[in-house]
Amino acid sequence: MSYVLRIVPIAFESLGVRSMATFIETPDTRIVIDPSAALAPRRFGLPPHPLEKQRLQELLKEIERYCSQAEVVIITHYHYDHHNPAQPELLDGKYVLIKHPTNHINISQRIRAARYLKSIRERCRLKALEYGENKELHFGNTRVRTSPPLPHGADSRLGYIFMVLIEYGDEKLLFTSDVEGPALREQVEWIKHVRPTVLILDGPMTYMLGHRYSNDLLNFALNSIVEILNECPIHTLIIDHHFMRDVEYRKYVNEILSRTKRDVSIVSAAEFLGREPLLLEAKRRELYSKYPVSQ
Ligand SMILES: [Zn+2]
Ligand SMILES: [Zn+2]
Repeated sequence: MSYVLRIVPIAFESLGVRSMATFIETPDTRIVIDPSAALAPRRFGLPPHPLEKQRLQELLKEIERYCSQAEVVIITHYHYDHHNPAQPELLDGKYVLIKHPTNHINISQRIRAARYLKSIRERCRLKALEYGENKELHFGNTRVRTSPPLPHGADSRLGYIFMVLIEYGDEKLLFTSDVEGPALREQVEWIKHVRPTVLILDGPMTYMLGHRYSNDLLNFALNSIVEILNECPIHTLIIDHHFMRDVEYRKYVNEILSRTKRDVSIVSAAEFLGREPLLLEAKRRELYSKYPVSQ
């Protein structure tokens, strides 16, 4: 990683919560993407363990701290692990790039978007507010580009997201947001089109395999990741979020590594920071048996 493009994963599954919150600093500006975090309401039939709740509070504080340093805040869609309706003031004073509230959006996110934008307008004074899709912005020598609206996963039932590309010098960081794999050709094509050097990808939903995520989708995702790595100058792939809800994640990383011909670092957000992954949701059952919760 080049020192002129500093990337700090703030909150991710490998750091103990559901999130993709990321801080990016260049000599020109500071940017936070998707400043929120959440917990799985139920996993293995269990509600969040108190240790998960504690971790969530710690990381929400970290998100607040990084937002206070940022000039730009980008919100790729209106799921609660990507935007926090309880804290519109995180955006106060910021240059805000946010998912369009009425175009390419599903019903539930349309309702959330209207509420959220209302509370932002009531409680914040913004430097700018722009809808995020298809944008190109310049902050000094830092270029921020965004994709057209792309489906959240294999179809648009869960709505749409946009991807964010941040370029400075020779580095191009691409943040995919929730593509669930990738799961669609159009997502793969946009990634290949912008040719990133660093990719932050949410990864296939292997924890739902055989339920809400099919084997065909998993194969498509793994093939697409190999294709992207082979065709783009990526030196670092940070794969996390959906992907790190499964304790078996390593076997898929090994498969990708064995199939790509390029020398690339594939890491979770925690490993990118030089830490061991802290999988709390994926180990919720173990948490309850190790640290029982009295009724
Ligand atoms: Zn989402
Ligand atoms: Zn998400």
